[in-house]
Amino acid sequence: MTAPDTAQSMPALTVACPACGSPPGSLCTSHGGTRLRRSDVHQARTKAFKAQQPTATA
Ligand SMILES: [Zn+2]
Repeated sequence: MTAPDTAQSMPALTVACPACGSPPGSLCTSHGGTRLRRSDVHQARTKAFKAQQPTATA
């Protein structure tokens, strides 16, 4: 499986981010929402995504 190394390809985007409050499908933001995190997402978001995946392995 090949995917571009960008945040938009991250499965964690399907959940809301508990760190910055970005809704599902939106990129994480930094600096109070003024900057998009295009290359990654908050660790808390990845964690939240994994937490809702019953079959996911940490
Ligand atoms: Zn975030």
